[in-house]
Amino acid sequence: MTTLQTDPGMEFLAQRVDGDPAFGCIQCGTCAASCPLGAAMEYPPRQLILQARSGNLDKILSSPSLWMCVGCHTCSSRCPRGIELADDLWPALRDRAMQEGIQPPAELQETFQNIFKYGNSLGESARKRLDWAKELDVPLRDLSKEPTAVEVLWLVCDYPSYYPRNQVVTRDFARILTALGVRWGVLGNKEKAVGDCDRLFGEEGLFEMLVENNKKLFDKHQFEKIVTLDTHSYRALEHFYPRYGAEYPVEHYTTFLADRLDLLKPLLTKPVKATVTYHDNCCIGRRAGIFDQPRMLLEAIPGVKLVEMARNRENALCCGGGGGGMWLDGHIVEHGGQRLSDQRVRQAAEVGAEVLAVSCPLELSRFEDSTKVAGLENKLLVRDIIELLAESMDLGEKEK
Ligand code: SF4
Ligand code: SF4
Repeated sequence: MTTLQTDPGMEFLAQRVDGDPAFGCIQCGTCAASCPLGAAMEYPPRQLILQARSGNLDKILSSPSLWMCVGCHTCSSRCPRGIELADDLWPALRDRAMQEGIQPPAELQETFQNIFKYGNSLGESARKRLDWAKELDVPLRDLSKEPTAVEVLWLVCDYPSYYPRNQVVTRDFARILTALGVRWGVLGNKEKAVGDCDRLFGEEGLFEMLVENNKKLFDKHQFEKIVTLDTHSYRALEHFYPRYGAEYPVEHYTTFLADRLDLLKPLLTKPVKATVTYHDNCCIGRRAGIFDQPRMLLEAIPGVKLVEMARNRENALCCGGGGGGMWLDGHIVEHGGQRLSDQRVRQAAEVGAEVLAVSCPLELSRFEDSTKVAGLENKLLVRDIIELLAESMDLGEKEK
């Protein structure tokens, strides 16, 4: 009989899984059956635990399926024993694999290097952090040059800072904050990546370094709360940073704006005539339970007809971009998985949506690419909720 002392797999699981230890698993299989990539995995979540219990940790760590989880949190949210698979077990196994010299797929390694070397996942220069604001037509307070007390420390985050499609949304958000009379500021070229809602896909050492650096940076400034556009950063700040003594009031933009609907509604004057469906992302949706506020914002826009996909709220299908999935598409497809974003845009089209509304910066490019793959390019537009609000407020940039 295996024991904690003699079985490295069980010892590892007992040490690393928060809450109910993983050998409380009753092997019901709910996690594997719920996993959108489970059928393609050599070791879906139930099997991970079974194999570790059997002392086969090496097999798990060297399997390609270790890098197929996209952190959607469906398994964790449905496990009857409350075992935190997505945010604790899976990153812990990946961390262990890297400690043992097992390298993740090349694209993910490059992302880790980009974050380490440049402070952002895209490998861009810190000097370009404010390039998004070159065409901005409202005043911007760069706190790295003009340290002053603000109501909102806006962490712009990586994709909204650097990626051209996202920069449109970023400028729209600056205009909305300004129109609402919010005193906001950004960290300019001092801003660095926050991390991710699942502790940076298993690179715990790098995650801890980011927390430490960001804590020092945030502590230099006076603000009432942090607001982010990035759902992954929001969840990391809200859920994981406090574990490292870095606790700050933080909101995702959807809750921040929904709390100000009384101020926002009179500004939403221009109809946006479209049938819209909302994609619940995994970080603010299943993980944080923010389901109503994005819908409240959409329903406040005149002309918007909101329809629901069959899989919505806690049952929404993941876009496949989390858990490092943004950089793992090639690996997942190579090992028999499908791109979940391709499935999701088809689900949006099935309910007659003309617009797929999103609130996570990774989803714009993922879903736009998937509309091309699915032959929906001119039938389904992908737009951030911020863009729809800005259009209704007649604040400038429209469709790009
Ligand atoms: S859902 Fe939970 S209890 Fe059931 S097999 Fe998966 S980890 Fe074990
Ligand atoms: S988090 Fe999602 S992708 Fe990862 S194992 Fe769980 S259900 Fe599968």
